[in-house]
Amino acid sequence: MNFIQTRGNDANKPKTVTFSEAILSPIASFGGLYVPQELPELGETFLNKHLHSSYKTLAFDMLSRFEIDIDKEVIEEALSLYDNFDDSKNPVPVVKVKENLYVSELYHGPTRAFKDMALQPFGVVLSSIAQKRNHNYLILAATSGDTGPAALETFKNRANVQVACLYPDGGTSDVQRLQMVTEDAKNLKVIGINGVFDDAQNALKRLLASEDFKSALKEKNISLSAANSVNFGRIIFQIIYHIHSYLELVRQNAVKMGEKVYLNVPSGNFGNALGGYYAWKMGLPVEKIIISSNENNVLTRLIRDGKYDLRESKVVNTTSPAMDILKSSNIERVLFDLFGAERTKELMEDLESKNFYELTSSELATLRECFDADFCNGDEGKKYIKDTFENNGYLMDPHTATCFKAYETCSKPEIISIVYSTAEWTKFSPVIANALTGEVDAQDIVALESISKTAHLEIPAMVKGLFSKPITQSTVIEKEDIEKEILKFL
Ligand SMILES: *Cc1c(COP(=O)(O)O)cnc(C)c1O
Repeated sequence: MNFIQTRGNDANKPKTVTFSEAILSPIASFGGLYVPQELPELGETFLNKHLHSSYKTLAFDMLSRFEIDIDKEVIEEALSLYDNFDDSKNPVPVVKVKENLYVSELYHGPTRAFKDMALQPFGVVLSSIAQKRNHNYLILAATSGDTGPAALETFKNRANVQVACLYPDGGTSDVQRLQMVTEDAKNLKVIGINGVFDDAQNALKRLLASEDFKSALKEKNISLSAANSVNFGRIIFQIIYHIHSYLELVRQNAVKMGEKVYLNVPSGNFGNALGGYYAWKMGLPVEKIIISSNENNVLTRLIRDGKYDLRESKVVNTTSPAMDILKSSNIERVLFDLFGAERTKELMEDLESKNFYELTSSELATLRECFDADFCNGDEGKKYIKDTFENNGYLMDPHTATCFKAYETCSKPEIISIVYSTAEWTKFSPVIANALTGEVDAQDIVALESISKTAHLEIPAMVKGLFSKPITQSTVIEKEDIEKEILKFL
C-alpha cells in the first residue's frame, strides 16, 4: 500500500510514497502528513476470525492487510517485544470498573505509559529500514515526560540509529526524569533544557527545518528523522489495541459481536484517538469516539463548536501534563479523511496564519457523527481518582481520570464504554497521593510508598530500581546551545 498527503502534492515530492519513506521523512508537501491511500476493510469476518487469537496474531494479520514494504521477519521481531510486557500472553488487559465501563490498560510496557504500545515495535522497524539502506539516522525527540523514556528504551543499542532526547529540566516527574537520565547506551543522548516543554518542542521543530543543521549532519553521513506521533509508523501500531480491546469485551461477554461501543480516549496529539478512528473505518463496531481533554480544551471546543481557536489560548500546566497541548497534530488526518486534501490545506493554512479555523455547519455535523468531547479539570480529575478507588477499588492515573467526566456527559448509559488508560499510577504518583490522602508536594519516592500502602499495590521493580540506578546523562543546557550539544554528541 502507498501513502498520500493530507495537503495535496506540491510537485516537489512524489505523489505517493511507500510506508518506509513515509516513516523516514514524515513531513509531506506543504507541511502536511502522510496517510494510507485507502484503509483495508476488515469487517466482522476478521473480528470473528480473531476472537480467540493472541494479541500478536491479531496484530500480524492486521498489519499484513496494510501490505507495507516491511519484511515479515521484521514485523514478527517488532511484535515479539510485546512479550516483555507484564503479561506476555496479553499485553493489554481490559478491566471492568463499573457497570458498562471497561478500562483498556495500555501501560504495561517497559516505561509504564502507553507510548510503549507504538514505540516498542516502531524502534525495530525503523532500525531495520536504516540497516537495509545502510544509512544512519538521528532521531530527535522532545518530551514532556512519556515519549522520551519510551523512545530511549526502544532505540537503545539499535543499529544505525542515534537518539537525541530533549526534556524540560524540572518539568517532568522524578520517575520520568530518572527513566531518561539513567539510560546509558552509547547511541543515546539526553539533554535537559532550562525552559519548558514548548522550548524543547520549538527547538526540535527548528532543527527539523534547518538546512544548516541538515548539512552538518550530512557531512557525518547522517539523516534526520523524528519519533513523534505525526509519524505514521507509530499510528499503525495504535490501531491494533482498539480492535483487541473490543474483542476482549466480546470474550468477557460484555458485548455481543457487532454491538457498538464508545471509545473514550484521553487526548493530546490525537494519535491514540486516530488509531480508534481508523479501526472504526476498517469495520470495528463503534458508536462514537469520545475525546477527553484537560483544561487545555481546544479539542472539546472544536468538536462542539467547529472552531479551532488558538487566538486567546495559552498552554496551561495541569495535573495531566502529557495532554498539555494546543496544536493537536493528528486531527489533520481526520480532516483529510472527512473533507479531502484541498479543504485540509485551507484549514491548516488558516490555523498557521490566523491561529484559527472554522468548519462549516455541515462539516461540523459530519465531525460530530464520529466524535463527541468534554474536558475535565484537575480537581474534578482528582475526585474521580478518589471516588473510583473508594467505590470501585480501581486506581487510575490523572490522564485516564479525564475520561470519567466525558463518560458522564457524553455517553448513553446503556452503551458500553471502553476508557483507555494511558499511564500507570507510578508515573504520576504525587498527584494521585494528593487525590487519595490530601498530602501535598510529596516527592515521587514518598508518594509511591504512600499509595502502595493505601491501595495495597506493589511498586513495580523497574520503577523502584530507578531510584538507585546511577545517573549517566547529566547534561542540562540553555536552549540556545542545543544544536551545538547534539553535534558534539554525534
Ligand atoms: C501521550 C499521552 C497522552 C496523549 O496521547 P495522544 O495520542 O497524543 O493523544 C495521554 N496520556 C498519556 C499518559 C500520554 O503519555
